[in-house]
Amino acid sequence: MFESKHPFGVNICNITSSPEKFVCINLECSEKKDQSFGCYECLIKKHKQIDQLHFEKIIEITAFLSQIKQKQKKKMDILQKLIIDCDSKKKQVQQSISVVENIISNDLLQQRIEQLFSSYLMKLQNEKVVISLTPDYSQQQHLKLLKFYHEDIEQYEKLIAQNGVGLQEQVDEILENYQIVTIQKFNKLKNEVEELRIQFNEYNQKLEQWERERERARARESPFMQVIEQLKLPVVFVLSILLFLNIIYSLFYLNAQDLDSGLILNQTLQQSDLNFNQMNQDQYYTNQTYNTNQTNYTNQTKYTNQTKYTNQTNQDKQSKSQNKENQLWLISEILENRSVEEFKNFMIIYDQSFNQPFTQDTYERIQKRIYWDKKDKIVCIGARENKNLRLIGCDFASEVFSITQNAYSARKSKNGEIYWYWVQQKSFGFSPNKNIVLTNIDYEDPTSELRFSFGTAKNLEDRRVGSKYGHNNTNQYNLVIYALKDSD
Ligand SMILES: [Zn+2]
Ligand SMILES: [Zn+2]
Repeated sequence: MFESKHPFGVNICNITSSPEKFVCINLECSEKKDQSFGCYECLIKKHKQIDQLHFEKIIEITAFLSQIKQKQKKKMDILQKLIIDCDSKKKQVQQSISVVENIISNDLLQQRIEQLFSSYLMKLQNEKVVISLTPDYSQQQHLKLLKFYHEDIEQYEKLIAQNGVGLQEQVDEILENYQIVTIQKFNKLKNEVEELRIQFNEYNQKLEQWERERERARARESPFMQVIEQLKLPVVFVLSILLFLNIIYSLFYLNAQDLDSGLILNQTLQQSDLNFNQMNQDQYYTNQTYNTNQTNYTNQTKYTNQTKYTNQTNQDKQSKSQNKENQLWLISEILENRSVEEFKNFMIIYDQSFNQPFTQDTYERIQKRIYWDKKDKIVCIGARENKNLRLIGCDFASEVFSITQNAYSARKSKNGEIYWYWVQQKSFGFSPNKNIVLTNIDYEDPTSELRFSFGTAKNLEDRRVGSKYGHNNTNQYNLVIYALKDSD
């Protein structure tokens, strides 16, 4: 086809002499060159020849291009809006990072966020540049322009927005990795708690104020109450004096008694309440102090003492034990048939018949009495028959009262050859070696005289003193727990 240039850039058809300024916007026609572009008459003729009768789709190029320009304008608007959104989103994220303290690599994080947003913004900017190029019609560009012409703008918007979602996910992931989100949540919670606390204080103050007002009102209403108020102080004073006199009296009275009556008194007091007779006992023992500072001696001293006493007879030990200066030889000893007289320097922590149950509550009350001054005392535990301590084991309280788990193995004392166990729901006691068999109480080596076992289950038959088992054989005994009195 011969083509001559139209003075305005439009070719003139050499058949009809009409300007070739029409296109068919039908996509199928675009694949056939001479059916997509030309003068109006030729295009109609060609379409008629092949029964393609969509004449409304044959339009002028200027209308075609103006349609495309309109779409480009819409796309530009969409892009511009996204760029603004993205920019403010970026600032928001960067702001949220900068207010969170304690991020190790804040700069690095800011940099990564910056990069992510920048590359997305760059894409949007590039897209804008491409779109902003003014379309010019040529047959080579026909297919491309036709695509723009038919482009679904909503679809385009969705597609671009999807990239934004991807960006948001990446940002979230990074913030999560840096625990920003967690920290932000934590800070939010912290603020909420703080608010609640302030509210609580306000309510509290209001309540107190209200109480005070009520108190005042009450005082105004009742003159009788006012008299009572004025009497309060003198009454308290008189009561204090009475209490003081009572204490002085007790002190003299107790000092005048011998050991037996003191013991009986102590037992009575314990039966009434384990917790509240501390003071009386302290008074009882005031003239029987010793000078050992229990917390200061070392194991070294202890072993030296032990060696020293090894070759001595029981009688020697007895005289030593009466020596008020040193009870160290007792540590990690199992003793048979000792007189209660030897334990004058000890507080009676517990002294109850074997037919009394030993509960968790008993355990806790004893703990309280032993550790009232937070010191690890020397403790003796075992069976008393009248004035005879039939079988007792002595050691530091921390050894004696440690809870153990194993029903077949007792725990060796750090201080020597005594093995302790205190298995809850079964029994406690001591043994000369680590082997024990706790069905409830210890049934290992039934003939051994050096094993003591006391059941904490409900069965009162669960008692062992040496080779004697069961309540019938042991009901003459009392379970006793002594603790060495502190000299200071
Ligand atoms: Zn067509
Ligand atoms: Zn033509």
